Amino acid sequence: MSHSVPDSHCVFCKIVRGEIPSARVLETAHAVAFLDINPLNPGHTILVSRSHHAHLGELPEAIAAHAGSLLPRLCRAVKAATGAEGFNVIINNGPVAGQTIHHCHWHIVPRFANDSIRWPWPQGKYSGDELSQMKSRIEQELENAVRAE
Ligand code: 5GP
Ligand code: ZN
Repeated sequence: MSHSVPDSHCVFCKIVRGEIPSARVLETAHAVAFLDINPLNPGHTILVSRSHHAHLGELPEAIAAHAGSLLPRLCRAVKAATGAEGFNVIINNGPVAGQTIHHCHWHIVPRFANDSIRWPWPQGKYSGDELSQMKSRIEQELENAVRAE
């Protein structure tokens, strides 16, 4: 499905290849899910593609679609196994967003009432025509991407 080169220094490539032990809960030909070694809550699970891609923006669409197709049942299993009342699915992209392992991965974090995770993040407001300008800029970038294909 993908021809990316594994990164010899990448922790998640090493986990995928079995060079670092992990508590795997799901495996397919293209993806692996395992328990996070330092969980935000017990049952915190990581889903990765077998192929190395630094972040979501670099993920081939077929790999993204495959990983996305696994998420509902993986999330249901994590929620049921932990007795969680809800869960967050998060991808950190880039160091500025908190990404520490540069192999795209989904965090599935089971959530409990009164746990120590704090949400929502602080939200802002648009003023004047900032919102419509932002809409136009993103639409333009999407058009540019289609033209470049
Ligand atoms: P990030 O900060 O890049 O979004 O998330 C990286 C995650 O990988 C962290 O939650 C961290 O606890 C987890 N992690 C780091 N090293 C290992 C490891 O060797 N094994 C496992 N199972 N998880 C790891
Ligand atoms: Zn990797």
